[in-house]
Amino acid sequence: MQQLWRNDARYIIKTALVFCALSAAFSFVGMLLPEKGPLPNPSGALNAREIGGHILWGLAAGAVFLNARYVIITGLFAVLIDSDHLIALLHVDALSRISHSFAFSVIAVITLMISFGRRDVKLGAAAFVGVLSHLSYDTFAGEDGKFPLFVPFYNHQITFPNIDWVYFELAAVAVSGIVTILAVRQSKKIQAST
Ligand SMILES: [Zn+2]
Repeated sequence: MQQLWRNDARYIIKTALVFCALSAAFSFVGMLLPEKGPLPNPSGALNAREIGGHILWGLAAGAVFLNARYVIITGLFAVLIDSDHLIALLHVDALSRISHSFAFSVIAVITLMISFGRRDVKLGAAAFVGVLSHLSYDTFAGEDGKFPLFVPFYNHQITFPNIDWVYFELAAVAVSGIVTILAVRQSKKIQAST
């Protein structure tokens, strides 16, 4: 049992570190886009309320996975995506918050599944759910609902009114819900065939 928890902890830490590094690395793409500009100071993204809110939103959507490992992973992904703010410390021009986008979601899903197991559908889904619930809390928490969602096809921030947090979180819950239902069906099928 203890060994099981140790394996889970190791898996959670590894996947979270990869996701965090990926978001920070992806932010450098923002330096290549013609729409780049000076970056806002990242210190605002690092206060306790913001961090707690993001984790809570991620845990809520991740709870639908019905598996502690993926609940925790989603909570961590939902806050670690903000590592794309760290590029601002370099005082270079770039497109702000570039990981807050569908392109980053796709890259994160593919990279995590290639690195940790192609059958680990819940891990891939957790990356997408983490991003969606992050966008939800950013939209909820104030003037922050601005993301370059369709980068690199449309390299401008798209503004969402506060109330739209509901739709982002519902989308996050829908993704984890669908994956959970499919996983339950799959395991029933395997049980029936043995
Ligand atoms: Zn953010």
